[in-house]
Amino acid sequence: MKPSPRQLVDGLLAGDRAALARAITLAESSLPRHQALAEEVLELCLPHSGGAVRLGITGVPGVGKSTFVDALGVHLVRERAETVAVLAVDPSSPVHGGSILGDKTRMPRLASDPRAFIRPSPSGGSLGGVARATRQAVLLCEAAGYRNILVETVGVGQSEVAVADMTDCFLLLMLPGAGDELQGVKRGIMEVVDLVIINKADGDNADRAARARRDHENALHLFPPAPHGWTPVVGVCSAQENRGVREAWEIVLRHRAHMQAGGWLERRRAAQSRRWLYELIEGQLRETFLRSAAVRERMPAMEGLVEAGSLSPLRAARELLDAWEPGASREN
Ligand code: GDP
Repeated sequence: MKPSPRQLVDGLLAGDRAALARAITLAESSLPRHQALAEEVLELCLPHSGGAVRLGITGVPGVGKSTFVDALGVHLVRERAETVAVLAVDPSSPVHGGSILGDKTRMPRLASDPRAFIRPSPSGGSLGGVARATRQAVLLCEAAGYRNILVETVGVGQSEVAVADMTDCFLLLMLPGAGDELQGVKRGIMEVVDLVIINKADGDNADRAARARRDHENALHLFPPAPHGWTPVVGVCSAQENRGVREAWEIVLRHRAHMQAGGWLERRRAAQSRRWLYELIEGQLRETFLRSAAVRERMPAMEGLVEAGSLSPLRAARELLDAWEPGASREN
């Protein structure tokens, strides 16, 4: 028998990992029936969520994200007696091949710890769908008692922006010595970064990492100061040798204290929730619109006319929107 949302939430609140995993699976499903259940579960969890440190982590493949998350997670659970949930946003992962990010085998030490919960990225969806599920997963993990949530992402498309928009602090991992372009660092990203860590600062790379740190510090100071007054901090670490990981976490906590003191953390989360609301409305509207009988009937002809250049997209969009009867589409 399938548990009811209430039973699922009771299990989840009591720390039952299977219940948590099940609730996340519902959030990831695209079936309307599952989404309705997920909505109910989330509603019940809401009073118990919000308490975690939410850290987003990005960087090109090979920079050391999983090694870093493993080391940081182990530091948190073993030295700080904390609990950690690791989530991932990877819209590039194939539908059936499973996702690479958040894969437990990439975080062997952390995965074996009972105080850690690791969940791979929902696979095979648009960024919007993956982000929507992961946002819910953050709240579900908090309700399940995880006090730190690490959300990992590869820097494809807009996934960094999506993860920055669901976390309190956003960390960019970089390699020493390679140019920003080579590392896929897009212009916009520096605007959402709170913390840059140069990884692999070991062996021959140690000097290069120190230089990269100075360069990035100088570059970041050229940005106009943010309203909250936090200038991104640059650090170095060797995730592999477990050096600089504790210090990186200390910067995360410093950032948090800074944001909390000015009421900025609360404001950041409030703005994130508001944006999420609008995103959901836009997504839902688009879906109901495209599914409605009146639109489906006219769409192929309209597309043809627009492609042929005999009708402007402006006129076509208006006519389709005029033909749409939102009330009627619900029965479809
Ligand atoms: P990801 O793709 O960003 O998750 O990167 P991984 O964590 O899988 O690491 C990619 C490779 O870099 C692996 O071979 C790691 O062993 C190695 N690596 C990760 N962190 C460090 C580090 O701090 N120093 C060195 N020298 N190698 C590292």
